[in-house]
Amino acid sequence: MTPPIPENDFTALEVYGWDAGRARELAKQGRRLDGVVGRIVVRHKGLYTVRTGAGEVLARIKGYLRYQAGTFAELPVVGDWVVLTKKPHDDLWRIREVLERRTVLRRKVPGLRSAPQVLAANVTTVVLVMGLTEDFSVRRLERFMVLVHESGAQGFVVLNKADLLTADEVAQAVEQVRVATGEITVATLSALDGESARSALAPLLCAGETLVFVGSSGVGKSTLINALLGEERFRTGEVRESDGRGRHTTTVREMVRLPQGAVVIDSPGIREIQLVDADAGLVDAFAEIAELARGCRFRNCTHTEEPGCAVLEAIESGALDPARFDSFRQLQSETDIQRRRRAEWIESQKRAFRQMKKRR
Ligand code: GDP
Ligand code: ZN
Repeated sequence: MTPPIPENDFTALEVYGWDAGRARELAKQGRRLDGVVGRIVVRHKGLYTVRTGAGEVLARIKGYLRYQAGTFAELPVVGDWVVLTKKPHDDLWRIREVLERRTVLRRKVPGLRSAPQVLAANVTTVVLVMGLTEDFSVRRLERFMVLVHESGAQGFVVLNKADLLTADEVAQAVEQVRVATGEITVATLSALDGESARSALAPLLCAGETLVFVGSSGVGKSTLINALLGEERFRTGEVRESDGRGRHTTTVREMVRLPQGAVVIDSPGIREIQLVDADAGLVDAFAEIAELARGCRFRNCTHTEEPGCAVLEAIESGALDPARFDSFRQLQSETDIQRRRRAEWIESQKRAFRQMKKRR
């Protein structure tokens, strides 16, 4: 007996970001679609709320999909497009396939073995919100650029709380960030002024866009999203630390639609995505090696063959486990490569921007 499959209503899915490109991908695979297509809007523990053309359903992962995924990071996340099926007598749908991700927003767990955690998929634009007053930092902006670059999405920078500065001061701030942001749009606004916020972000708000907002606590992300929603959906000034994980998933949609057509993916994990340098994590994770290295004779000691190397001495004497030192070295060289790549990429963005300026 074939299970009943409701018609796939792709038009209804367009307001959640479905597009012709995805339809073509499915067609190219030349297969009969034997399931319902939908987009994950909430990820619960082991359970997903999926938006289909015919409304929301609850689904879980098919056993073999979980098995194939291998690591936690590869399981479906909010924003994923999935194919679902359901047996007639089951209450829950099953996610049997995750369609190819166009972009992936990852949280790097700095330092150690754990794979980067995937926070959201198929995000089209990552919006960094920085406060012009308390939170302003060009370094953070550079890290944001790396995050955007690695996600595959486009970036957008909001310098918020412009109402607290003079026009001159705002212009100065924009000048400062320009070097780091290159071609990325930088909008200065006040989230308290809903009208101007909506018009500054207008290019991002149409159907097909999937937005996330990142930035430090207190910079005005909730206020801004509320302004876009035109209603009080997120409480502002909330103390995030008190957000129990379980409570969050049951009370908050992680994906909401804006009246203009775009969808916003919002969860504490995404908002608080740490724009930190891997280096800081490395030093934290191997504090005792960093401590030892301070005792080396040469400041730039590589701990390989230098005379008077305190790290090598510690290995010699058995005070430091050589295996641990190896993993430190391994990670250090990875971080070095990352740092170099990042520096190169930021340079290339700056070059592109200078050229663009010259052409004008
Ligand atoms: P979030 O933690 O990033 O979500 O920040 P909130 O949206 O909760 O805002 C933190 C505080 O900053 C609240 O008291 C807001 O009213 C205030 N705020 C947000 N945007 C602006 C702005 O553009 N100008 C001013 N003066 N205050 C703002
Ligand atoms: Zn040394």
